[in-house]
Amino acid sequence: MARAFDTGVRPQWCPGCGNYGVLAAVRGALAELGLRREEVVAVAGIGCHGRVTEYLDVNAFHAIHGRAVPVAEGVKLANPKLTVLVHTGDGDAYAIGLSHLLHAARRNVGIKVIVHNNMVYALTTGQAGPTTPRGLRTRSTPYGSVEEPFNPLLLLLASGATFVARGFSDDVQHLKELVKRAILHKGFAVIDVLQPCVTFYDTRGWIRERAYKLEDAGHDPRDFRAALERSLEAERVPLGVLYEVEKPAFEELALSPEHPPPALRDLKARLPLDKLLARFE
Ligand code: SF4
Repeated sequence: MARAFDTGVRPQWCPGCGNYGVLAAVRGALAELGLRREEVVAVAGIGCHGRVTEYLDVNAFHAIHGRAVPVAEGVKLANPKLTVLVHTGDGDAYAIGLSHLLHAARRNVGIKVIVHNNMVYALTTGQAGPTTPRGLRTRSTPYGSVEEPFNPLLLLLASGATFVARGFSDDVQHLKELVKRAILHKGFAVIDVLQPCVTFYDTRGWIRERAYKLEDAGHDPRDFRAALERSLEAERVPLGVLYEVEKPAFEELALSPEHPPPALRDLKARLPLDKLLARFE
């Protein structure tokens, strides 16, 4: 029997790559939410993760490096009824695409960003990236990286993201539940997924030793200060929803017929915007 949201194309990732777990979790989440493929758009960036659009049977767009988020924002604004997923890597999202990501969080655009964070530039054979730990020897840092890595959870919380979570690619069931919650959340949602790159930086054992579930630790995701504290943990790896708050989504405000901002009102007067949008419904 054909699996849900499976294009039938055989994945080309290395055996043991964390991308398999992310793909399985996303397929499961879409199926359990009862979504149809024509209701979902996946936008991918550049990196090993980017091939996900070949394997996930939904409408898809493979964007250029660092630009998956703005493409997804455009899709969401063109048709807010769509579920718009962004698959992006740590290099794609936290380096070249960082400003797009943080501003999408600030605006609360209703896209769901899944960051495949393996802490190296795997597609280009394992160079150091923005989340590479200090001291790691890579192709580009043969004597060990001297840079401090970003803390993406802290950055996203500080940017006003209304849903911030962390998953682990080996825990597919848990990650699937996070993806479902992110999709059901109104507005911007981001899941930083820790995943091993078995070829260039295998973090599987490191993550397994340190991971714990926030829901088992009594964490309240409505508590912003508690979320900040969890994001700062260095020795343990919290998994789950760090923070969730309900606010109006950008598209709700910007496309509201009651209160269109002047720029959009002018645009509507010049363009048959409603007819244009109807073509995507
Ligand atoms: Fe996965 Fe790393 Fe292989 Fe890329 S190089 S497919 S990230 S294991």
